[in-house]
Amino acid sequence: MEIEIQLTDRAIAETILPPGQPGAVGAWLEFRGVVRSEENGRTIRALEYEAYPEMAGREIRRLLQKISARHPCRAAKVIHRVGVIPAGETAIYVGVASPHRGEAIALLAEFMDRLKQDVPIWKRRAIADGARLCAEHQPQRPSNVQAAAAGSATTAALRSLDEARAEIRSRSRPLPAVRASLAEALGRVLRETICAPEDLPPVDRSTRDGYAIHADDASKTFSVVDTIHAADWKPRQLKTGEAVRVATGAALPCKGLRVVMQEHVERDGDKLHVVRRENSTNVRLRSEEVRQGQPLVSAGTKLHAGALAILATVGNVNPLVSPRLRILHFTTGDEIVPPDKTPKPGQIRDSNSILIRGLLQNFPCDVEQGHLPEDFERAKSAISNQQSAIGNADVLLVSGGASVGEKDFTRALLEQLGFGIVFSQINLRPGRPLIFGVNGSRVAFGLPGNPLSHFVCFHFAVATALAGLTGGQPPKFFRGQLAEKLDDKPYPRETLWPARWEWRVGQTFLSASSGDFPVACADNANTGQECPANQQTGMSALHLLAWASSGDITCLAAANALIRVPANCAGLSNGAKVDFLPLAAMIGGGL
Ligand code: AMP
Ligand code: MG
Repeated sequence: MEIEIQLTDRAIAETILPPGQPGAVGAWLEFRGVVRSEENGRTIRALEYEAYPEMAGREIRRLLQKISARHPCRAAKVIHRVGVIPAGETAIYVGVASPHRGEAIALLAEFMDRLKQDVPIWKRRAIADGARLCAEHQPQRPSNVQAAAAGSATTAALRSLDEARAEIRSRSRPLPAVRASLAEALGRVLRETICAPEDLPPVDRSTRDGYAIHADDASKTFSVVDTIHAADWKPRQLKTGEAVRVATGAALPCKGLRVVMQEHVERDGDKLHVVRRENSTNVRLRSEEVRQGQPLVSAGTKLHAGALAILATVGNVNPLVSPRLRILHFTTGDEIVPPDKTPKPGQIRDSNSILIRGLLQNFPCDVEQGHLPEDFERAKSAISNQQSAIGNADVLLVSGGASVGEKDFTRALLEQLGFGIVFSQINLRPGRPLIFGVNGSRVAFGLPGNPLSHFVCFHFAVATALAGLTGGQPPKFFRGQLAEKLDDKPYPRETLWPARWEWRVGQTFLSASSGDFPVACADNANTGQECPANQQTGMSALHLLAWASSGDITCLAAANALIRVPANCAGLSNGAKVDFLPLAAMIGGGL
């Protein structure tokens, strides 16, 4: 069968030359699918379609060939429009020529039925009535549709890094909270603010092993009238000249006492002689740390060991927290072999599986990992055996196949699984072919297979979604200074450049391991907050790591930050102020 396929961002002409040799055909069948002005009960102005032209063209051809084996026709012509298509205009034209009408009608019907399912052309969004069509999406005047499938389709303008982050944040909504034991709650996000149920400490307590006496009792010699251990509760009023033996942490018997350290007394039976009085009363007063009702740990806090210790102190043993996430991760690519195998020429060891597993350590979750065959049909059937795991997953990650190569089917696969694609490329280096999709409360990412892109996309995109789903704080950019100059050719996309972040005080670099650096003092790029003591106390210093391609991996040995290098930036001087993303998972802290 003679086949002609076109994808175009222009209006499809009113009259199209029918396919097939005139005279050799008995039926010319033409079909136009037109954009309706109503969708799901609301009036719309246009629909926006997006496609990978090469892949869409190839799949249309394959589909037509398959169907024509059952319904032989002479010729078929398909023109699919992409970009913004105003209501009332043609989204798809199909012309079929055959000796008799039966085959043509059957071929057309089957083709249209299967088009949506099998061909990677996506309805990206409906544009509401009254919305303005932006300049680049203004409908084009009808043309004679010369463009061939390859290269003629437009995709929507690429998302910037900030747009992509904002979109991920707005679409990754907090999953319902659950109650968990303290041990289970480690690393989860607290979803209620915990307030002090009573004063802390609840009573005056001794901070020393010694003797409690009235704070203003000037006697030199005292009678020891009782002993109070840490576990005792023995309220009594002390008289002048009376002392009580107390242990560290013991609840004092009444108000207004001080504790003389045992090192500062001489004891003879029940008699006590005070040798020295310190200025300190050695008493932790009731409520001196916190008053009843004051907030202790705020909702949105990632529960680290310290926060859990506070909850234990106040007896909150079942806090309301984010659920443990269920994450499903598939690698793709027939070239991938497990790390313990020796790759044959053309093969490559799978590093993304362990990378993802390691990065997810920072988020309490159950991770299941698998591999999908490179052929779309085989991948679909592999997936269909895992429907329940997929249906239960809060997050689906697919490594590789996110771009526009012949075998890159990740987007089509996510569509097949019911995910609406929010974007499929971003204006970023490395990591341009990043796909983000949503299906109800579930999110999916198609991550570019190259290890460095993987690393970058995880940190700014996946980590943002995980924060959203758990109700936590998304990754934040801070301000820092380059520790050396950046020589780069101007690049048209914004770059997230792998770096080593350290804390510099004068000429000394402190390692940015958790606890070493005063995070509060790093300028916060999100709020514009400047560290007031920057000059005196130090500065975030960023060492640029060498990398040449998104296929690089060795810079990950040292990377604990990503620096934002603006698009078309021809280089930055030593000491230039830059925005950077500290990588909590690489530092070990819960930033
Ligand atoms: P793709 O995104 O599928 O086009 O893959 C881009 C590059 O990443 C190719 O060179 C792949 O071999 C490589 N790649 C894909 N998956 C992995 C993986 N799991 N581990 C290491 N490299 C990978
Ligand atoms: Mg691949």
